[in-house]
Amino acid sequence: TIVHCPLVVPPRKRYAWVQLAGHKGSFKAGEEGTILKKFSENEKACFERLMNDILHSYVPNYHGVVDRDGESFLRLTDLLAEFDGPCVMDCKMGVRTYLEEELVRARERPKLRKDMYKKMMEVDPNAPTDEEHTQQAVTKPRYMQWRETLSSTNTLGFRIEGIKKADGTCNTDFKKTRTKEEVAQVIKDFVENNRNILKSYLTKLEEIRNILDRSEFFKRHEVIGSSLLFIHDHKELVRVWLIDFGKTTLLPDGQTLDHCVPWCEGNREDGYLWGLDNMVNLITDIVNE
Ligand code: ATP
Ligand code: MG
Ligand code: MG
Repeated sequence: TIVHCPLVVPPRKRYAWVQLAGHKGSFKAGEEGTILKKFSENEKACFERLMNDILHSYVPNYHGVVDRDGESFLRLTDLLAEFDGPCVMDCKMGVRTYLEEELVRARERPKLRKDMYKKMMEVDPNAPTDEEHTQQAVTKPRYMQWRETLSSTNTLGFRIEGIKKADGTCNTDFKKTRTKEEVAQVIKDFVENNRNILKSYLTKLEEIRNILDRSEFFKRHEVIGSSLLFIHDHKELVRVWLIDFGKTTLLPDGQTLDHCVPWCEGNREDGYLWGLDNMVNLITDIVNE
């Protein structure tokens, strides 16, 4: 008998790219393991400086600006490409996620905002003051500062933005995940209680901690709204990357930040390292449980 052997073409490695934060439509697929992120002059300048800093091996490679359908994009290495069924977690670092200048600008025109009052009421009807209830409105700076108290941003110096698990399910509903216990539970679910993976994450975070201590870029920038992207797969390949420099701002010449001391308006401190240390301690506690 003749056995027909069909010509077997190995399928191209296929995976679903996931976006755990930001506006839908601000990313496009790029070619050869790259992605395109909507252009911002500030982020471009950060990536250019980062490519010449020791931090470069912990950020996606930057491949310049490209135009697609009349819009500009930054071309970045796709960090998921090397994984087989990646699990992904985005943690936004720091004790605040708005720039000091945004707060100042919001205050210049202290317009009463009914929409922000409504959003506040939807989350917590007890949050507005008596006066705000009477006005049925809040100011923008008030709203910005209130929002940061809901998650662990103020209390731990980082917050979970989103998670994609191996089964493909995504969860971006962590706006009120605030206590240490709640955050620990989310992380345990994310790694499905795999201690090897947790330990590898700890090693990576400690490497990043060491590099940050020596980075000129880090010393000289207010790092706001930037995330650590945690990625692992069933083969226990584990990596952590620094992403999102849309709001990372160069300080005036000669000025540096500590990144650990508390923020008081005017000192521009972001609490990035304080948050990283809290994260390392929290994961260490889980590993030792
Ligand atoms: P926001 O400011 O609201 O956080 P953004 O528009 O600045 O959003 P990013 O935070 O840079 O966008 O990215 C959004 C998501 O896209 C990340 O959470 C991550 O899931 C994915 N992502 C971003 N950059 C990369 C990359 N280089 N490789 C793989 N995934 C990425
Ligand atoms: Mg982001
Ligand atoms: Mg951003």
